[in-house]
Amino acid sequence: MIFCSYPYAQYQSHQLEIDEAIKNVLAGKTYILGQNVADFEIEFAQYLGVKHVIGVGSGTDALQIALLALDIGLGDEVIVPSHTAVATVAAIKLVGATPIFVDIEADYYTLNPQCVERAITSRTKAIIAVHLYGLPANMQAIMGIADQHGIKVIEDCAQATGASYKGKRVGGIGEIGCFSFYPTKNLGALGDGGAIACHDADLATRIQQLRQYGWDNHRVSQEVGLNSRLDEIQAAILRVKLRHLEHDTQKRVNIAQGYNVALSELPLKCPKVREGTTHVYHLYVVATDKREDLSWFLKKSDVFAGIHYPVPVHKMPAYIDNLLQEYRLQVTEKTVTQILSLPIYPELSHSEQEQIISAIGQFFG
Ligand SMILES: *Cc1c(COP(=O)(O)O)cnc(C)c1O
Repeated sequence: MIFCSYPYAQYQSHQLEIDEAIKNVLAGKTYILGQNVADFEIEFAQYLGVKHVIGVGSGTDALQIALLALDIGLGDEVIVPSHTAVATVAAIKLVGATPIFVDIEADYYTLNPQCVERAITSRTKAIIAVHLYGLPANMQAIMGIADQHGIKVIEDCAQATGASYKGKRVGGIGEIGCFSFYPTKNLGALGDGGAIACHDADLATRIQQLRQYGWDNHRVSQEVGLNSRLDEIQAAILRVKLRHLEHDTQKRVNIAQGYNVALSELPLKCPKVREGTTHVYHLYVVATDKREDLSWFLKKSDVFAGIHYPVPVHKMPAYIDNLLQEYRLQVTEKTVTQILSLPIYPELSHSEQEQIISAIGQFFG
């Protein structure tokens, strides 16, 4: 059986180093906010080309803390795609703000800047740009709109660690970048984890306080904060994985290129790469009107493709009654009926990929 992602294979690839790293944490006697978290924050900041990284408990927490750190709450509007992991939108609701859903670009599945522009009101405080599937959103247009209207941009980089936009890694372009290290993500821990990146020192200090009860250096709460610390063991694992990330990303790119070539003649839309960007292929998402049949056919061939995501957030019960307006997100609503995520991860073997490609060929043949 071949799955869409396979975190256990990643563990096996780097098992000796990971086991050693975990043993060292256990022997090191510090289990919360120890040297591994501090070192990971520095190493990840260097990797991203940002001044500050703060490790937190998850990607959802990273987004929630980012919003709190920008003083976004009740009465504020945050522009967000509906075609994203529900966590992106959950964070907005959790701080009491109002998500304003906008449509995506059909070619790239990321925020449509024209729709963003139209959605801006006097209450708009921020835009969350999601770099979906590993591909950077149109940051030049989004940053331009944000600057013009004096609003902040938060980058949701949960699916795009290491992707770059015009030579800069995502997460360092907007005011704040948010990362998830959920095990299936392209930089994945072996449990939950997340991080927040920013350039501003005061903002970094505030984020550091927010992740731990709002504490200052004297353990006095200066505001109400969360408990959302990156775990020391996960940080040690992430330091190992980060060392291999570029190599692992190259493997994903090679697999994606294999799909691009093999599927080019079939009636199937393959992922496009935006000019001036690099795609890190957290997911390899194709689109076809025959999605349901293809998915079923692949299952019979022991290939378990995924759908990211079958229900857009604005159609989910938890979010539907909060709509202030009738949303018509034509591209989003069509996209969710067509997309299929083919298996892609660094350890996917050539013969496994051949099996997937041959099954798809059979289906269309
Ligand atoms: C995974 C994901 C999140 C949430 O991350 P968690 O670590 O699971 O909380 C947020 N946004 C996007 C786009 C994601 O893919």
